Amino acid sequence: MKGALYPGSFDPITSGHVDIARRGAALFDRLVVGVYDTPSKNLLFDTTTRVALAREALAPFSNVEVQPYQGLTVEFAHNLGVAAILRGLRAVSDFEIEMQMAHQHRAIRPDVEVVCLFTSPNFSFLSASLIKEVARLGGDVAGLVPDNVAKALRARFADAPQNDNVPRFLNT
Ligand code: ADP
Repeated sequence: MKGALYPGSFDPITSGHVDIARRGAALFDRLVVGVYDTPSKNLLFDTTTRVALAREALAPFSNVEVQPYQGLTVEFAHNLGVAAILRGLRAVSDFEIEMQMAHQHRAIRPDVEVVCLFTSPNFSFLSASLIKEVARLGGDVAGLVPDNVAKALRARFADAPQNDNVPRFLNT
């Protein structure tokens, strides 16, 4: 049985992430979506919420599970006993960092392969940061995120959408 780990911040999970998870679940017998506990970026949702949102969004896929993790991604993959780390590539800009990380992973655990899937064209412009910015400003994110995430974003920004202390960056 071949498994893969699909790691990320998932702050929050978007339709682009779901697309990669769905396609990964068709390639591997078991897909673990790993929600990284402490990425070096400002988070909108805490780990418990990010995991809960991802679990709900990925519930239709019976061979997909969602787990939080800390520490090195490649060690988590090794401990899970999966064959590969799965990542999504949106554009050339993603490529360099993904290649660096893949080489770093290989240096630590050569038995864990890195598999990259190209993002479906309709999601190639999508980033969690952009979604947060649009939602913060009261824009409609329907279709760009799963329904449960759209609801969570509306609730999060319901009180003071313009004044919320959310980082304004677009490069997630
Ligand atoms: P990270 O903090 O590791 O970049 P993200 O949650 O932003 O975590 O992304 C996790 C993975 O999903 C990465 O491989 C990223 O390239 C991929 N990804 C992000 N956005 C999309 C998208 N719109 N379509 C497909 N893959 C995506």
